[in-house]
Amino acid sequence: MARLILLGAPGAGKGTQAKALATLVQIPHISTGDILRAAVAQKTPLGVEAQSYMEQGNLVPDDLVIALIKERLSQADAQNGWILDGFPRNESQAAFLDKLLEEIDQAYRYAVNLEVPDDVLVQRMLGRGRADDTEDVIRQRLQVYHNQTAPLIDFYRVRHKLVSLDGNIPPEAVLDKLKSLF
Ligand code: ADP
Repeated sequence: MARLILLGAPGAGKGTQAKALATLVQIPHISTGDILRAAVAQKTPLGVEAQSYMEQGNLVPDDLVIALIKERLSQADAQNGWILDGFPRNESQAAFLDKLLEEIDQAYRYAVNLEVPDDVLVQRMLGRGRADDTEDVIRQRLQVYHNQTAPLIDFYRVRHKLVSLDGNIPPEAVLDKLKSLF
């Protein structure tokens, strides 16, 4: 069963790669960022709550994203595998995910860390022009990444699940390496 967690800083290419891989392997690409942005656009209760955190480059509270991911992983199309993009993003989300997957008897193969230097990340995000891709918010998101998300590299390393890939090469080359993990 193909289950993959994509780690990496904002701008590392998780979304691009997850989308391409999901199409190739025919399993869902589950992006908490995409789900949250859709909720914001539709002004659902989740979106209304999440919006200010996202605009400031901070993490949306754990209880909200945990409920969201629990619901998404229970859906029918997620029973044959998935690619997770943007979750988990801190240690408590990672601990929750491990526990949930054990309960529902699903195991992931790898957590893949896409490595890209900070200066390249900033250039990529500035070029992308999403609502939260302004210079101040980018700086905040990178800080949140280094403080809260980067420690997950060790979380998965000690569980022998970590694969590190150079994300600073052309997207097709990254995709080739990811394909070889299936
Ligand atoms: P990027 O990785 O480029 O920052 P995402 O689309 O993954 O973009 O996330 C955008 C924003 O959505 C984050 O800055 C954060 O506010 C929120 N978000 C996404 N996933 C999570 C999560 N797992 N926990 C908390 N907040 C999240």
